[in-house]
Amino acid sequence: MRKHIVMVGCSAPSHVYPSLALIRELVERGHRVSYVVGEPLAGLVEPTGAEVVAHPTIFPLGETAWPEDPAEAMRVFLDEAIAIHPQLTSRFDEDRPDLLLYDIGGLGAPLLGERYGVPAVQLSPSLVAWDGYEEDMAEVLGPLRSSPSGMDYNRAYTQWLKENGIIAEGWDWIAHPAQVLSLIPRAMQPNAERVPSSVRFVGPCLDPLRLADRSWTPPADGKPVLLVSFGTAFTDQLDVYRACVTAFADSGWHVVLSVGKHVSAEDLGPLPDSFEAHESVPQLAVLETASAFITHAGMGSCTESLWFGVPTVAIPQAVDQFGNAALLDSLGVGRHLPAAEVTASSLREAVDAVSSAPEVAARLAALKAESRANGGVSTAADAVESFLK
Ligand code: UDP
Repeated sequence: MRKHIVMVGCSAPSHVYPSLALIRELVERGHRVSYVVGEPLAGLVEPTGAEVVAHPTIFPLGETAWPEDPAEAMRVFLDEAIAIHPQLTSRFDEDRPDLLLYDIGGLGAPLLGERYGVPAVQLSPSLVAWDGYEEDMAEVLGPLRSSPSGMDYNRAYTQWLKENGIIAEGWDWIAHPAQVLSLIPRAMQPNAERVPSSVRFVGPCLDPLRLADRSWTPPADGKPVLLVSFGTAFTDQLDVYRACVTAFADSGWHVVLSVGKHVSAEDLGPLPDSFEAHESVPQLAVLETASAFITHAGMGSCTESLWFGVPTVAIPQAVDQFGNAALLDSLGVGRHLPAAEVTASSLREAVDAVSSAPEVAARLAALKAESRANGGVSTAADAVESFLK
């Protein structure tokens, strides 16, 4: 039966991409889907057939940097959710949803779920808290929560919940969502065996439109392709790009650099013939062909590297990337190269090592098969519909 599903996204591309295939599938199954997202990202959502509910955004979106302080970075998500909440209540009070879906950054959705008495199901593009998470992560969470910005965050969150009739501490509320569909490969979830039963692994769900993007073509000379990409927010890496030029000129590799908005062709200087540099690339098309991937280990990129079975050299920059890089390394599919250790020779050595080791190729083949068997779009849509019954 046709239902009204409201998806509350957030205004970062890497939080939007993971849900697009599922949203498209729900629309194709006949549901009416309203997708709440920052106005600059409306164009990513429109092709799914969902009705876009656009709002102004305060997210940096590559123009400016994210705050370095983790609680201040989390505050951007909270401040945006608080700012748009009146728009959401006035819109959906008149046009009630049967079910809410939400990205981890779509913080208003569970409040709307309580308001309308319908389930709110998180679509997680990242790792989830496992049983014992708070104790295991005490060394990180303790200082974060007791820092002035962390205490401010909790105060503002708790107050917002109270204004919406919910008595809970902000920190507790976000750590324990009631229902979660995880869109990452199970292999990328730390302590997966301790994840609570409220979480179902149903992904990854790669967007068919992004998969079909053929605006990049592999090199005609058949050289193995090395992709260098720091995702959508950590691309200001001129030193790394320059080190890549030194490391891989005349190396036999064809190197694709995705350099973002901050690095110009002038900054890079003349590139060897076997190099191409772009502001951004259709990453799925490149990874489908690539033989190695230098990445910041954002979860989207980790997911995609396992999906296509591409070995990684991970240079993490922030947040969950350090854990993701260590996990890829421990899974035997990549090398964790701390930023401080990046030189032309360490890059070359790491890329050559991960791309030539038979044991890495064998682990990748196994994890590629496992992540494709995790679930996928149809499983994810069935899971969503199970909440409508
Ligand atoms: N991406 C892309 N082209 C680029 C750079 C990134 O399509 O040139 C996509 C990439 O495929 C992934 C997302 O942007 O889906 C980046 O997500 P990730 O979690 O890796 O990093 P973040 O941007 O959140 O740091």
